[in-house]
Amino acid sequence: MKCVCCRYLSFIIFHLSFSVLARAYLMKDLKELCRKNIWELSPYSSARNEYSGHVARVFLDANENPYNAPYNRYPDPLQQEVKTLVSKVKGVPVDNIFLGNGSDEAIDLPYRIFCRPGIDNVVAIEPTYGMYKVCADINDVEYRPVLLDEHFQITASKLLDACDDNTKIIWICSPNNPTGNNINREAIEEVLQKFNGIVIIDEAYSDFSNEKPMRAELRKHPNMIVLNTMSKAWGCAAIRLGMAFASKEIIDIFNKVKYPYNVNLLTQKQAIEALKDPFAVDKWVKILIQERSQLMSTFLELPICEKVYPSNANFFLAKMTDAQSIYDYLVEKGIIVRNRSRIQLCGNCLRITIGTKSENTELVGALRNY
Ligand SMILES: *Cc1c(COP(=O)(O)O)cnc(C)c1O
Repeated sequence: MKCVCCRYLSFIIFHLSFSVLARAYLMKDLKELCRKNIWELSPYSSARNEYSGHVARVFLDANENPYNAPYNRYPDPLQQEVKTLVSKVKGVPVDNIFLGNGSDEAIDLPYRIFCRPGIDNVVAIEPTYGMYKVCADINDVEYRPVLLDEHFQITASKLLDACDDNTKIIWICSPNNPTGNNINREAIEEVLQKFNGIVIIDEAYSDFSNEKPMRAELRKHPNMIVLNTMSKAWGCAAIRLGMAFASKEIIDIFNKVKYPYNVNLLTQKQAIEALKDPFAVDKWVKILIQERSQLMSTFLELPICEKVYPSNANFFLAKMTDAQSIYDYLVEKGIIVRNRSRIQLCGNCLRITIGTKSENTELVGALRNY
């Protein structure tokens, strides 16, 4: 038992350290940000969660079939082996990692955790990745797009001006999809400093960027969630593995709300294989960045291309003379690009993913004959 004055002293130290944090960050308490039902939720406790600390040999706890190993067993609900490798590759501690069924799950969960349907809202840059709005609509959460400027940039004050007391999340995608550019770092830092809710930075394309990833700044920003994915640089879109990096407190809430076995065994196995060979990814990224700069300069020489926007991703946006008919023409030839011409600020734009050298050559050949 501590004596009264020791307890009093630790009370003061505890509150002093928190008031220092509170001055540096306007972030509301996590409890205040969370929906009440989520904060108070007792999560499903799976059979495999309950025996930890012992070496187990005989599993008669989960009503599994004893035959057909290894597919008969439920997978690790917290994916410890995958996370240990992700931690090494990404430089983020295991406790700060959530793994989900694609980024899709990591995009949906923050709505379910923080946003009261019909009451709360979120703010996002516009144009950007479509899933943020789809998930907002599904969860009955108001979505407030804030238009980028003609350089596809934003200021912190524009985003913050769109917020009110019920704004729980600000979405920033950098490098941004479909524009391809990094959102300027000063604006991101300022939003993180000045917003009292959660800021989610989607870095799906950061492997292709020359900017230092925000996940390296996790400890500086208790209100930040960073998203990564195996679907792009890692070449594993088929296995559906997305990641969120955040404070342990936020990750614990993600784990409480997610489906118990949200990442299946086949995905975990394949992810482990991929993560053991990060050098393959480095090699692909290098080739794709080189191909990107070649393809972009070739596009600039095409008479049907009016402008190529700078890119830090594995795609770029090109303004064409007539995006719709060029798109239709390419489809006829069996070449599919993304027509973004009906998106705000992207009039007559096609989004071109960087392929292999021969795929890129085929695209250019077809466009020269348009
Ligand atoms: C492609 C992409 C993702 C990846 O989504 P997954 O569900 O992980 O495949 C995430 N965010 C952005 C902005 C993307 O363009």
